[in-house]
Formats: sequence, C-alpha cells, structure tokens
Amino acid sequence: MKTIRTQVGIIGAGPAGLTLAHWLRRQGIDAVIIEHRSREYVQARVRAGLLEQNTVDILKALGLADRLIREGHEHHGVYLSFDGERIRVPFDAHTNGRHITIYGQQEVVKDLTDAWQAAGETLLFEAPALAIEDFDTRHPKIYFEQAGEKGVIECDFVAACDGFHGLGRKTLPRHSYREYAITYPFSWLGILADVPPSSDELVYAYHERGFALHSLRSAKVSRLYLQVENGESIDQWPDDRIWEELSVRLGTPGWHLQSGPIFEKSITPMRSFLIDNLQAGRLFLAGDAAHIVPPTGGKGLNLAIADVKHLVDGLADFYRNGSCTGLELYTQTALRRVWRAQEFSNFMTTLFHKQDEHGSFQYRLQRARFDYIRTSEAYAATIAENYVGLPFSAFDH
Ligand SMILES: Cc1cc2nc3c(=O)[nH]c(=O)nc-3n(C[C@H](O)[C@H](O)[C@H](O)COP(=O)(O)OP(=O)(O)OC[C@H]3O[C@@H](n4cnc5c(N)ncnc54)[C@H](O)[C@@H]3O)c2cc1C
Repeated sequence: MKTIRTQVGIIGAGPAGLTLAHWLRRQGIDAVIIEHRSREYVQARVRAGLLEQNTVDILKALGLADRLIREGHEHHGVYLSFDGERIRVPFDAHTNGRHITIYGQQEVVKDLTDAWQAAGETLLFEAPALAIEDFDTRHPKIYFEQAGEKGVIECDFVAACDGFHGLGRKTLPRHSYREYAITYPFSWLGILADVPPSSDELVYAYHERGFALHSLRSAKVSRLYLQVENGESIDQWPDDRIWEELSVRLGTPGWHLQSGPIFEKSITPMRSFLIDNLQAGRLFLAGDAAHIVPPTGGKGLNLAIADVKHLVDGLADFYRNGSCTGLELYTQTALRRVWRAQEFSNFMTTLFHKQDEHGSFQYRLQRARFDYIRTSEAYAATIAENYVGLPFSAFDH
C-alpha cells in the first residue's frame, strides 16, 4: 500500500480544500490533497461566481489573485426588483467601501490548483477517500485509492473539505451533532449564455410568475436563473421558453434583456442545511461538508473560505504554540458566521421567490419588505453589509 506522510490530510480539491492547503503552506505546515474527481471534471463544474470582499482579500494575501484581479469584475451595488419596479442598493456608502467581485468558482479552483501544482505540492486526482480512521488518536489516517491502487495518508489532522456528499460528515459520530434543514418548494434553473450581460450589476427579481436573477460571468458571458417547480426536467425548458420567461420576470420599463446561445443549463434544488458540530478528535469539517445555503445570497463558497480561516488559525496556533484552544473553539467560531449567512440566504430567498398566490398575505409581506428597503437607509444598509460579507471582526464576541 502506498503511504503518504503529512501534517494535514485534506479531502477535496474544491475552494475550501485548496484554500486551506495554500494557507497552511504559507504558515509552514505541510498538507496533501486528495480529490475524488478528475481535474477536468472539477474545473468544468459551474457553480458560484460571487466573491465577498473577505474572500478576495484572503486570496490576495495568499498571492493567488493575479488573474482574479485582472479578469474579475468589482460590483459596488445590486439591483432589486419587485413587480417590475427596480431599485439599486449601493454598497460603498453602507459598508465603508466594501464590495463584491464576480469571478467564476471554476476559475478560482483552476488558479489554486495550478499554483499548488506549480509549487510541487501533492494533489491526487481521481483518488477518492474511502475511510477516515483513528481520528480520535494523535495519528489519524485517510484510506484512499487511485487507479486501482490502495493508499493511506498518515497525518496529524484530517480536514474534510469534501462537499455535501463527502465522507467527512458521514464519519462524524452521529450522536455528536444535530442537523438543521429546510428544503424549499422550488428549484433554480441556471443557464450560461454567450451574450454580453444586459446589466452592469446583478438583478434579483420577484415576479408573479416566480423569481429570476440576472448574474454575470464576464464581458461576453451571462449567468441567469429562474425559479422552477421542484421535479421539473430540463427538457421542459427549451431555450426560447427560458429567454421569454427571463425577459418577463426581469422586465422593467426602458430595459431590454439580450438573449444569446445557451451553452450550459441545469436545475438545482434549493435547501438550507447545517450540522452544529464540525469536529471530532482530529477530524475537522469545512465548507459544504457541514453546511449548505440556498444560492440566493451568494454565500456558499464564501462560507467555505471563512471556515478555512478559522481552521488555519487553530492549526497555526497548535503548531506554533502547542495550543489546542483555537481548534477546540473551531465549531463555535465558525458557526457564528454560518448562522448569519443562513439567515441572510433564507431572507433573500423568501423575499424574492414566489411562495404563494400573487396578492396573498405572504405576497403582501414580501412587498412590504421590498418597500421598506426603498424607504429605509438602515434596512438597505443591513442588506448591503450582509451581501458584501461582514468582516471577521464582526463575529469577535
Ligand atoms: C448552481 C450553484 C450556484 C452557486 N452559486 C454560488 C454563489 O454565487 N456564491 C457562492 O458563494 N456559492 C455558490 N454556490 C455554492 C458553492 O458552489 C459551494 O458552497 C462551494 O462549492 C463549497 O466549496 P467546498 O470546497 O466546501 O465544496 P465543493 O466545491 O463541493 O468541493 C468538495 C470537493 O470534494 C470532493 N470529494 C467529495 N467526496 C470526496 C471523497 N470521498 N474523496 C475525495 N474527494 C471528495 C468533490 O469531488 C469536490 O471536488 C453555488 C452552488 C451551486 C450548486
């Protein structure tokens, strides 16, 4: 059996695992990553595209943001639309100049993978973790296989950054955590299209036919979403129908949605999920392995990176000072932000999705919230500061 020895064994080469590996390396701590899928598969997976200020700051500090700075698009506000009436929430005035950056998750993953491999570090693709053992001792092990050969990573700590369907959460003792979940009664149909964005900033829209979101990827590629029923199939949505529906739901007087060839479309269920314990012995979970938010607030990737910050703080303190305090407090520290993001994502989801008949009590509540954003600086500021991501210092209590 192939044996690899390292300090931190990382499962998963998504945003959490890759950022963790680089950050540890900067602290002089060795790490090895194993990834279930192929490099091509991981880098073609279209997901997030909204990076909070914190995330960009971290990638810059790690020297991993050259292309992000060149190709990413800073946004200093967001458009919110209700029944065709569109308003803008500016970020700068409400957040001391903090903003978001639009840059595809697959580009982040590509940049971090390239940099890790260029540094001569180990990342094994098509190498699924099969079991995590002895994590309640000082010598945990990750058993994996690659190309039919079995292997083991002997390490001091295991970081399960292996996403919602990964092994990390399944390995945590079931009695050690509670699960919290909401499954929403609708899904998102997302498209990527070869067409310049019709808006300079994102547009979130409530419409009596359902939610729509105009997002962006680059000067030539647009990302758009529609609320659809759970269980609907992509075959029910030919391109013409998608564009027509987007045009109606996002419509506002004097504005025109440009359409173009769609080259990617998929349907994603919407759910909120978390467990309230992210660790057992020397096993730590980060990112989607421990929590999922509906994509409405653009928080998933950013939460994954925030978990990593707390985990690095704890590991660095352990290796530098021999202290376990940061690691012991990891769950508690990380969950403060996770719950805040859960609340904001749920707020954005329930504000802009059609949940009941147009004109119902639920609709009136949503309308009242939208009207309040228009009239209250304080309410707009609350949305702005959550949207760009609260600074880490906001959770020091
Ligand atoms: C359609 C969609 C749109 C989204 N939009 C946004 C957005 O705008 N903004 C935002 O912040 N977030 C968004 N998200 C969420 C975001 O993509 C996730 O939160 C993010 O990918 C979490 O990163 P992660 O590293 O924790 O997990 P992942 O990216 O899921 O990475 C986990 C990795 O672990 C690997 N793995 C799993 N099991 C094993 C195993 N046994 N052995 C080895 N490797 C394994 C997987 O192959 C995967 O590569 C969106 C998600 C979706 C689906």
